[in-house]
Amino acid sequence: MVNVDTPKLLRSLAKLIEKPEIKALQVSLVQTLEQLIDAESVALYDIRTLKQVDAEQAEDFLIRVGIDDSFDDDGAPLILLREEPQFLECYRSQHLVIVPSGVAGAPLRFIHPILGMKGVTGFLVIEAADHVERDQEMAAIFLGFIRNYILLLNDNQRDHLTGLLNRKSFDDKVMKMILSLGNVNKRDADKVCYCLAVLDIDHFKRVNDNYGHLMGDEVLLHFAQCMNETFREYDLLFRVGGEEFVVVLRNVDAGRAQVVMERFRKVVETHYFPQVGQITASIGVTFIGPHDLPGLVIDRADQALYYVKEHGRNQVAFYEHLVEQGKLSQKQVESDIELF
Ligand code: GH3
Ligand code: MG
Ligand code: MG
Repeated sequence: MVNVDTPKLLRSLAKLIEKPEIKALQVSLVQTLEQLIDAESVALYDIRTLKQVDAEQAEDFLIRVGIDDSFDDDGAPLILLREEPQFLECYRSQHLVIVPSGVAGAPLRFIHPILGMKGVTGFLVIEAADHVERDQEMAAIFLGFIRNYILLLNDNQRDHLTGLLNRKSFDDKVMKMILSLGNVNKRDADKVCYCLAVLDIDHFKRVNDNYGHLMGDEVLLHFAQCMNETFREYDLLFRVGGEEFVVVLRNVDAGRAQVVMERFRKVVETHYFPQVGQITASIGVTFIGPHDLPGLVIDRADQALYYVKEHGRNQVAFYEHLVEQGKLSQKQVESDIELF
Protein backbone atom coordinates (compact mmCIF):
# COMPACT_ATOMS: atom_id res chain seq x y z
CA MET A 1 0.00 0.00 0.00
CA VAL A 2 1.16 3.52 -0.72
CA ASN A 3 1.83 5.20 2.62
CA VAL A 4 -1.37 7.03 3.48
CA ASP A 5 -1.78 9.48 6.32
CA THR A 6 -5.11 9.84 8.08
CA PRO A 7 -5.93 13.38 6.86
CA LYS A 8 -5.32 12.27 3.27
CA LEU A 9 -7.60 9.29 3.79
CA LEU A 10 -10.35 11.45 5.27
CA ARG A 11 -9.98 13.98 2.45
CA SER A 12 -10.36 11.11 -0.01
CA LEU A 13 -13.54 10.00 1.73
CA ALA A 14 -14.96 13.53 1.67
CA LYS A 15 -14.10 13.90 -2.02
CA LEU A 16 -15.60 10.53 -2.77
CA ILE A 17 -19.10 11.64 -1.83
CA GLU A 18 -18.79 15.17 -3.21
CA LYS A 19 -21.36 14.58 -5.95
CA PRO A 20 -24.44 12.79 -4.66
CA GLU A 21 -24.96 10.88 -7.85
CA ILE A 22 -24.37 7.21 -8.55
CA LYS A 23 -22.27 7.42 -11.69
CA ALA A 24 -20.09 10.21 -10.28
CA LEU A 25 -19.60 8.19 -7.09
CA GLN A 26 -18.48 5.15 -9.04
CA VAL A 27 -16.01 7.17 -11.10
CA SER A 28 -14.75 8.85 -7.97
CA LEU A 29 -14.26 5.46 -6.26
CA VAL A 30 -12.03 4.27 -9.11
CA GLN A 31 -9.97 7.47 -9.03
CA THR A 32 -9.60 7.39 -5.24
CA LEU A 33 -8.46 3.79 -5.20
CA GLU A 34 -5.99 4.45 -8.02
CA GLN A 35 -4.37 7.03 -5.77
CA LEU A 36 -4.56 5.10 -2.51
CA ILE A 37 -3.46 1.61 -3.41
CA ASP A 38 -0.63 0.00 -5.30
CA ALA A 39 -2.34 -1.33 -8.39
CA GLU A 40 -1.72 -1.62 -12.09
CA SER A 41 -5.38 -1.01 -12.85
CA VAL A 42 -8.69 -0.38 -11.09
CA ALA A 43 -11.99 -0.82 -12.92
CA LEU A 44 -15.67 -0.95 -12.08
CA TYR A 45 -18.28 -3.00 -13.88
CA ASP A 46 -22.05 -2.74 -13.57
CA ILE A 47 -24.32 -5.67 -14.28
CA ARG A 48 -27.14 -4.68 -16.60
CA THR A 49 -30.05 -6.86 -17.49
CA LEU A 50 -30.73 -6.08 -21.09
CA LYS A 51 -34.17 -6.85 -22.33
CA GLN A 52 -34.04 -5.90 -25.99
CA VAL A 53 -37.52 -5.10 -27.16
CA ASP A 54 -37.71 -8.02 -29.58
CA ALA A 55 -35.83 -10.58 -27.49
CA GLU A 56 -37.76 -13.26 -25.61
CA GLN A 57 -35.40 -13.39 -22.66
CA ALA A 58 -33.38 -10.89 -20.71
CA GLU A 59 -29.63 -11.33 -20.59
CA ASP A 60 -27.09 -10.15 -18.00
CA PHE A 61 -24.24 -8.05 -19.36
CA LEU A 62 -21.27 -6.35 -17.78
CA ILE A 63 -20.61 -2.78 -18.65
CA ARG A 64 -17.45 -0.96 -17.66
CA VAL A 65 -18.27 2.26 -15.87
CA GLY A 66 -16.82 5.13 -17.92
CA ILE A 67 -14.02 7.20 -16.49
CA ASP A 68 -15.38 10.27 -18.19
CA ASP A 69 -18.33 11.64 -16.29
CA SER A 70 -20.70 11.50 -19.23
CA PHE A 71 -24.27 10.43 -18.71
CA ASP A 72 -24.52 8.15 -21.69
CA ASP A 73 -22.74 4.83 -21.59
CA ASP A 74 -24.66 3.25 -24.44
CA GLY A 75 -21.51 3.12 -26.54
CA ALA A 76 -19.47 1.05 -24.06
CA PRO A 77 -18.79 -2.55 -25.13
CA LEU A 78 -20.99 -5.13 -23.46
CA ILE A 79 -19.61 -8.35 -21.98
CA LEU A 80 -21.93 -11.32 -21.48
CA LEU A 81 -21.85 -12.34 -17.81
CA ARG A 82 -22.52 -16.02 -18.55
CA GLU A 83 -19.37 -16.19 -20.66
CA GLU A 84 -17.09 -14.88 -17.87
CA PRO A 85 -16.36 -17.73 -15.39
CA GLN A 86 -14.32 -15.55 -12.98
CA PHE A 87 -17.05 -12.95 -12.71
CA LEU A 88 -19.69 -15.66 -12.48
CA GLU A 89 -17.88 -17.24 -9.52
CA CYS A 90 -17.81 -13.89 -7.72
CA TYR A 91 -21.46 -13.28 -8.68
CA ARG A 92 -22.54 -16.61 -7.19
CA SER A 93 -20.32 -16.70 -4.10
CA GLN A 94 -20.69 -12.95 -3.33
CA HIS A 95 -17.08 -13.09 -2.11
CA LEU A 96 -13.76 -11.73 -3.29
CA VAL A 97 -12.31 -13.91 -6.06
CA ILE A 98 -8.57 -13.89 -6.71
CA VAL A 99 -7.29 -15.22 -10.04
CA PRO A 100 -4.15 -14.87 -12.14
CA SER A 101 -4.44 -11.79 -14.33
CA GLY A 102 -2.08 -12.70 -17.15
CA VAL A 103 -0.83 -9.10 -17.03
CA ALA A 104 2.93 -8.61 -16.82
CA GLY A 105 3.88 -6.76 -13.62
CA ALA A 106 0.45 -7.33 -12.08
CA PRO A 107 0.02 -11.09 -11.74
CA LEU A 108 -3.17 -11.10 -9.68
CA ARG A 109 -6.70 -10.00 -10.44
CA PHE A 110 -8.93 -9.26 -7.45
CA ILE A 111 -12.62 -9.33 -8.24
CA HIS A 112 -14.64 -7.70 -5.44
CA PRO A 113 -18.43 -8.10 -5.55
CA ILE A 114 -20.58 -4.98 -5.31
CA LEU A 115 -23.60 -5.93 -3.27
CA GLY A 116 -27.02 -4.39 -3.80
CA MET A 117 -30.30 -5.21 -2.09
CA LYS A 118 -30.84 -8.37 -4.13
CA GLY A 119 -27.31 -9.69 -4.60
CA VAL A 120 -24.33 -8.70 -6.70
CA THR A 121 -24.91 -5.66 -8.91
CA GLY A 122 -21.36 -5.19 -10.19
CA PHE A 123 -17.67 -5.80 -9.65
CA LEU A 124 -14.61 -3.86 -8.63
CA VAL A 125 -11.63 -5.33 -10.45
CA ILE A 126 -8.10 -4.59 -9.30
CA GLU A 127 -4.99 -5.87 -11.03
CA ALA A 128 -2.05 -5.67 -8.71
CA ALA A 129 1.56 -6.69 -8.39
CA ASP A 130 1.16 -8.61 -5.18
CA HIS A 131 -1.39 -10.02 -2.91
CA VAL A 132 -1.19 -7.01 -0.63
CA GLU A 133 -3.89 -7.77 1.89
CA ARG A 134 -4.26 -4.29 3.33
CA ASP A 135 -4.85 -2.82 -0.12
CA GLN A 136 -7.71 -5.21 -0.82
CA GLU A 137 -9.08 -4.64 2.65
CA MET A 138 -9.02 -0.91 2.01
CA ALA A 139 -10.75 -1.42 -1.36
CA ALA A 140 -13.45 -3.55 0.31
CA ILE A 141 -14.01 -0.89 3.01
CA PHE A 142 -14.38 1.89 0.41
CA LEU A 143 -16.70 -0.33 -1.58
CA GLY A 144 -18.89 -0.96 1.48
CA PHE A 145 -19.01 2.76 2.20
CA ILE A 146 -20.02 3.62 -1.37
CA ARG A 147 -22.55 0.80 -1.43
CA ASN A 148 -24.39 2.14 1.60
CA TYR A 149 -24.34 5.63 0.20
CA ILE A 150 -25.70 4.43 -3.15
CA LEU A 151 -28.50 2.51 -1.43
CA LEU A 152 -29.42 5.70 0.39
CA LEU A 153 -29.37 7.73 -2.85
CA ASN A 154 -31.46 5.10 -4.59
CA ASP A 155 -33.98 5.23 -1.81
CA ASN A 156 -34.26 9.01 -2.23
CA GLN A 157 -34.73 8.77 -5.96
CA ARG A 158 -37.41 6.10 -5.96
CA ASP A 159 -41.12 6.00 -5.39
CA HIS A 160 -41.82 3.74 -2.44
CA LEU A 161 -44.97 2.08 -3.81
CA THR A 162 -43.72 1.07 -7.26
CA GLY A 163 -39.94 1.29 -6.97
CA LEU A 164 -39.85 3.45 -10.11
CA LEU A 165 -37.87 6.72 -10.18
CA ASN A 166 -39.79 9.50 -8.47
CA ARG A 167 -40.75 13.01 -9.46
CA LYS A 168 -37.78 14.44 -7.57
CA SER A 169 -35.27 12.72 -9.82
CA PHE A 170 -37.22 13.51 -12.99
CA ASP A 171 -36.02 17.07 -13.66
CA ASP A 172 -32.47 16.16 -12.85
CA LYS A 173 -32.31 13.15 -15.15
CA VAL A 174 -34.15 14.80 -18.04
CA MET A 175 -31.95 17.91 -17.75
CA LYS A 176 -28.86 15.68 -18.00
CA MET A 177 -30.23 14.07 -21.13
CA ILE A 178 -30.88 17.44 -22.71
CA LEU A 179 -27.33 18.53 -21.91
CA SER A 180 -25.91 15.28 -23.27
CA LEU A 181 -27.80 15.91 -26.54
CA GLY A 182 -26.06 19.28 -26.75
CA ASN A 183 -22.69 17.55 -26.43
CA VAL A 184 -23.29 15.00 -29.17
CA ASN A 185 -21.17 15.72 -32.23
CA LYS A 186 -22.92 16.26 -35.56
CA ARG A 187 -21.90 12.86 -36.93
CA ASP A 188 -23.79 11.03 -34.17
CA ALA A 189 -26.68 13.47 -33.91
CA ASP A 190 -29.16 11.26 -35.73
CA LYS A 191 -28.17 8.19 -33.71
CA VAL A 192 -28.73 9.76 -30.30
CA CYS A 193 -32.37 10.49 -29.79
CA TYR A 194 -34.55 10.58 -26.69
CA CYS A 195 -38.27 10.40 -26.59
CA LEU A 196 -40.52 11.02 -23.59
CA ALA A 197 -43.98 9.59 -22.99
CA VAL A 198 -46.53 10.43 -20.33
CA LEU A 199 -48.71 7.43 -19.46
CA ASP A 200 -51.98 8.07 -17.66
CA ILE A 201 -54.41 5.38 -16.53
CA ASP A 202 -57.87 5.89 -17.96
CA HIS A 203 -60.74 6.49 -15.51
CA PHE A 204 -58.57 5.61 -12.57
CA LYS A 205 -60.95 7.41 -10.19
CA ARG A 206 -63.51 4.70 -10.95
CA VAL A 207 -61.05 2.04 -9.76
CA ASN A 208 -60.71 3.81 -6.42
CA ASP A 209 -64.44 4.47 -6.20
CA ASN A 210 -65.50 0.92 -7.08
CA TYR A 211 -62.78 -1.16 -5.44
CA GLY A 212 -61.22 1.11 -2.82
CA HIS A 213 -57.92 2.92 -2.54
CA LEU A 214 -55.93 -0.21 -1.61
CA MET A 215 -57.03 -2.00 -4.77
CA GLY A 216 -56.17 1.23 -6.63
CA ASP A 217 -52.64 0.97 -5.26
CA GLU A 218 -52.50 -2.66 -6.40
CA VAL A 219 -53.39 -1.55 -9.93
CA LEU A 220 -50.58 1.03 -9.80
CA LEU A 221 -48.16 -1.72 -8.80
CA HIS A 222 -49.26 -3.95 -11.67
CA PHE A 223 -49.01 -1.03 -14.04
CA ALA A 224 -45.42 -0.39 -12.93
CA GLN A 225 -44.66 -4.09 -13.46
CA CYS A 226 -46.02 -3.88 -16.99
CA MET A 227 -43.62 -0.98 -17.56
CA ASN A 228 -40.67 -2.89 -16.12
CA GLU A 229 -41.44 -5.87 -18.31
CA THR A 230 -42.02 -3.97 -21.53
CA PHE A 231 -39.29 -1.35 -21.61
CA ARG A 232 -35.54 -1.89 -21.83
CA GLU A 233 -33.04 -1.54 -19.04
CA TYR A 234 -31.70 1.62 -20.69
CA ASP A 235 -35.07 3.35 -20.64
CA LEU A 236 -35.91 5.48 -17.61
CA LEU A 237 -39.18 4.77 -15.85
CA PHE A 238 -40.82 7.26 -13.49
CA ARG A 239 -43.94 7.59 -11.42
CA VAL A 240 -44.41 11.36 -11.50
CA GLY A 241 -47.84 11.64 -9.90
CA GLY A 242 -50.65 9.53 -8.44
CA GLU A 243 -51.55 7.52 -11.54
CA GLU A 244 -49.24 9.30 -13.97
CA PHE A 245 -46.10 7.66 -15.22
CA VAL A 246 -43.32 8.72 -17.55
CA VAL A 247 -40.95 6.71 -19.67
CA VAL A 248 -37.93 8.12 -21.47
CA LEU A 249 -36.87 5.92 -24.38
CA ARG A 250 -33.22 6.17 -25.28
CA ASN A 251 -31.86 6.01 -28.79
CA VAL A 252 -35.03 5.36 -30.70
CA ASP A 253 -36.27 6.91 -33.91
CA ALA A 254 -39.87 7.99 -34.46
CA GLY A 255 -40.91 4.69 -36.04
CA ARG A 256 -39.41 2.60 -33.26
CA ALA A 257 -40.91 4.82 -30.55
CA GLN A 258 -44.33 4.38 -32.13
CA VAL A 259 -43.96 0.58 -32.15
CA VAL A 260 -42.70 0.45 -28.54
CA MET A 261 -45.42 2.72 -27.14
CA GLU A 262 -48.17 0.95 -29.05
CA ARG A 263 -46.86 -2.37 -27.73
CA PHE A 264 -47.00 -1.04 -24.17
CA ARG A 265 -50.56 0.21 -24.68
CA LYS A 266 -51.55 -3.31 -25.77
CA VAL A 267 -49.70 -4.92 -22.84
CA VAL A 268 -51.82 -2.86 -20.43
CA GLU A 269 -55.05 -3.45 -22.35
CA THR A 270 -54.56 -7.22 -22.26
CA HIS A 271 -53.15 -7.47 -18.71
CA TYR A 272 -55.42 -8.95 -16.07
CA PHE A 273 -55.55 -6.63 -13.07
CA PRO A 274 -56.71 -8.58 -9.98
CA GLN A 275 -60.39 -7.96 -9.19
CA VAL A 276 -60.52 -4.92 -11.46
CA GLY A 277 -60.00 -6.90 -14.68
CA GLN A 278 -59.16 -4.64 -17.61
CA ILE A 279 -57.80 -1.13 -17.50
CA THR A 280 -56.42 1.01 -20.31
CA ALA A 281 -53.95 3.88 -20.53
CA SER A 282 -53.61 6.98 -22.69
CA ILE A 283 -50.17 7.93 -23.88
CA GLY A 284 -48.76 11.29 -25.02
CA VAL A 285 -45.28 11.33 -26.54
CA THR A 286 -42.74 13.95 -27.61
CA PHE A 287 -39.10 14.07 -28.71
CA ILE A 288 -36.46 15.73 -26.56
CA GLY A 289 -34.34 18.38 -28.26
CA PRO A 290 -30.87 19.73 -27.34
CA HIS A 291 -32.33 23.15 -26.40
CA ASP A 292 -35.25 21.78 -24.43
CA LEU A 293 -36.20 22.16 -20.78
CA PRO A 294 -37.75 19.39 -18.63
CA GLY A 295 -40.89 21.47 -18.03
CA LEU A 296 -41.38 22.10 -21.76
CA VAL A 297 -40.90 18.44 -22.64
CA ILE A 298 -43.51 17.29 -20.14
CA ASP A 299 -45.86 20.06 -21.27
CA ARG A 300 -45.71 18.87 -24.90
CA ALA A 301 -46.26 15.23 -23.92
CA ASP A 302 -49.17 16.35 -21.71
CA GLN A 303 -50.77 18.21 -24.61
CA ALA A 304 -50.64 15.03 -26.70
CA LEU A 305 -52.04 13.08 -23.73
CA TYR A 306 -54.97 15.46 -23.29
CA TYR A 307 -55.68 15.17 -26.99
CA VAL A 308 -55.98 11.39 -26.54
CA LYS A 309 -58.14 11.83 -23.43
CA GLU A 310 -60.50 13.99 -25.49
CA HIS A 311 -60.53 11.62 -28.44
CA GLY A 312 -61.48 8.26 -26.96
CA ARG A 313 -58.56 7.39 -24.60
CA ASN A 314 -56.56 4.09 -24.86
CA GLN A 315 -54.36 5.45 -27.69
CA VAL A 316 -50.86 6.74 -28.34
CA ALA A 317 -50.35 10.23 -29.80
CA PHE A 318 -47.14 12.06 -30.67
CA TYR A 319 -47.13 15.81 -30.05
CA GLU A 320 -45.04 16.43 -33.18
CA HIS A 321 -47.45 14.45 -35.38
CA LEU A 322 -50.46 16.25 -33.93
CA VAL A 323 -48.83 19.63 -34.66
CA GLU A 324 -47.90 18.48 -38.18
CA GLN A 325 -51.48 17.39 -38.79
CA GLY A 326 -52.79 20.73 -37.49
CA LYS A 327 -54.58 19.04 -34.58
CA LEU A 328 -52.52 20.93 -32.00
CA SER A 329 -50.90 24.33 -32.36
CA GLN A 330 -47.28 24.80 -31.40
CA LYS A 331 -46.84 27.01 -28.35
CA GLN A 332 -45.06 30.35 -28.72
CA VAL A 333 -42.76 29.77 -25.75
CA GLU A 334 -41.19 26.86 -27.57
CA SER A 335 -40.27 28.74 -30.73
CA ASP A 336 -38.76 31.49 -28.54
CA ILE A 337 -36.52 28.98 -26.83
CA GLU A 338 -35.50 27.37 -30.13
CA LEU A 339 -33.82 30.69 -31.04
CA PHE A 340 -31.11 30.24 -28.41
P1 GH3 B 1 -58.81 10.11 -16.98
O1 GH3 B 1 -59.13 8.97 -17.86
O2 GH3 B 1 -59.33 11.39 -17.51
O3 GH3 B 1 -57.36 10.19 -16.64
O4 GH3 B 1 -59.62 9.82 -15.64
P2 GH3 B 1 -59.08 9.62 -14.17
O5 GH3 B 1 -60.20 9.09 -13.36
O6 GH3 B 1 -57.87 8.79 -14.18
O7 GH3 B 1 -58.81 11.11 -13.78
P3 GH3 B 1 -57.80 11.82 -12.87
O8 GH3 B 1 -56.45 11.78 -13.47
O9 GH3 B 1 -58.37 13.17 -12.61
O10 GH3 B 1 -57.84 11.02 -11.52
C1 GH3 B 1 -56.77 10.37 -10.97
C2 GH3 B 1 -57.16 9.75 -9.64
O11 GH3 B 1 -56.05 9.02 -9.12
C3 GH3 B 1 -57.50 10.75 -8.56
C4 GH3 B 1 -56.95 10.13 -7.28
O12 GH3 B 1 -58.00 9.75 -6.46
C5 GH3 B 1 -56.24 8.89 -7.72
N1 GH3 B 1 -54.93 8.73 -7.10
C6 GH3 B 1 -53.91 9.60 -7.09
N2 GH3 B 1 -52.85 9.09 -6.42
C7 GH3 B 1 -53.21 7.85 -5.99
C8 GH3 B 1 -52.57 6.81 -5.24
O13 GH3 B 1 -51.40 6.92 -4.84
N3 GH3 B 1 -53.26 5.67 -4.99
C9 GH3 B 1 -54.56 5.52 -5.42
N4 GH3 B 1 -55.18 4.38 -5.15
N5 GH3 B 1 -55.18 6.47 -6.12
C10 GH3 B 1 -54.54 7.63 -6.41
MG1 MG C 1 -54.26 11.74 -14.14
MG1 MG D 1 -56.13 9.13 -15.32
